Amino acid sequence: MPFSDSNATAAGLCNFVDVSPSPFHVCRTVSVQLEEVGFVRVEETAAWPTEVGRYYLIRGGSLVAWSTESDSHEPGLSGSTPGDSGHSAGSTPGGFRIVGGHTDSPNLRVKQNPDLESAGWQIVGLEPYGGAWLNSWLDRDLGISGRLSVRDGNGLREVLVKIDEPILRVPQLAIHLSEDRKGVTLDPQRHVNAVWGLGNSPRSFLGYVAEREGVDPSAVLGWELMTHDLAPSAVVGVENELVSAPRLDNQATCYAGTQALIAAVENPTTATPVLALFDHEEVGSMSDRGAFSDLLNTVLERIVLGRGGGREEFLRTMAASICASGDMAHATHPNYPDRHEPAHRIELGGGPVLKVNQNLRYATDSVGAGAFALACDQAGVPLQRYVHRADLPCGSTIGPITASRTGVSTVDVGAPQLAMHSARELMGASDVAAYAAALAAFLAPAR
Ligand code: ZN
Repeated sequence: MPFSDSNATAAGLCNFVDVSPSPFHVCRTVSVQLEEVGFVRVEETAAWPTEVGRYYLIRGGSLVAWSTESDSHEPGLSGSTPGDSGHSAGSTPGGFRIVGGHTDSPNLRVKQNPDLESAGWQIVGLEPYGGAWLNSWLDRDLGISGRLSVRDGNGLREVLVKIDEPILRVPQLAIHLSEDRKGVTLDPQRHVNAVWGLGNSPRSFLGYVAEREGVDPSAVLGWELMTHDLAPSAVVGVENELVSAPRLDNQATCYAGTQALIAAVENPTTATPVLALFDHEEVGSMSDRGAFSDLLNTVLERIVLGRGGGREEFLRTMAASICASGDMAHATHPNYPDRHEPAHRIELGGGPVLKVNQNLRYATDSVGAGAFALACDQAGVPLQRYVHRADLPCGSTIGPITASRTGVSTVDVGAPQLAMHSARELMGASDVAAYAAALAAFLAPAR
């Protein structure tokens, strides 16, 4: 039975996070795991596959993966009765079962003209991406990752960057130099630049990165570069109950969703399982590859067209679909219990979390809640129900966006954690396997 070894699943998450410092690396890590079980990459510019199979597609830092093997049991529409052509007006399509998530995490990113000098230091100009908790980025040994757009003849090619060495550091001010010894308020313009050496003559940061990746510095025409903490992820706590790692929001969902899809394709049902991992959630999802884009709708329509269906069948399939938007959930903090809704205590190790917000910061309605609660029941894992304090502004997810863009009934779920948006976050070790098991049951609903 998959996920029965929760220690191994937690260790798997640690490995996943450590090799995935940027959204582009998340896509690559997921693709490697999917290809091991027979998934084949599809290019958006190529003809769509018409054969039944397991596929995935990458657009920048976003990835969508699916299997059409569920359809192979019966001709035509999934869910049609045996012997039926599958296209008759009376048959009900099986629909898509979609697990969504996001590949990006808040961090410090490299500016376009990064080479600065100050007080005899060589500085790299950084700025925050998303709602980074800036204090947590101080005094850490930082590596560099992302991608370069490199001139290749008259065209361009992409080069992934991953430098796992302590090149950069954002040093904190000494407590003796703060005005009241209570710490300083960090200014995102002035206080998060990194030092990377001594001396008054600035060296070229981009030149350094290019040379490290074996690229002619003058050929680098564009870049998306970011920093990551080099401390390895770890299973911690007196009984090894906890996972301490960067980027748990939302790589815990990327990892659990990938493991869930791999388990679900071994157990095909009438539904078509889909994993949709979007970049740019932390900055509003509005991009070519964010949840606001056409990415998911386009892939879902091409899946139906690829199996010989038309627009009518696509729309009927969408109407029969349901999406679990996976993102992390706030566990009740032992040092700040008053920041939480007292009747909704959320525990690490307590299992997946269903997130409900009356003002639709989460997309959950009773239909989606029912579907996910049923999946948890079938997976044999407990379910916790989260409500944000009514007097605090609630965060959001890709859930309301994908629900609006697709018209698909959506439920917001997650795994509990502390220290969301810190450079180092904390979750329960057993929750990784419980979350993956619940998502697997959701992707492959019992007939
Ligand atoms: Zn998130």
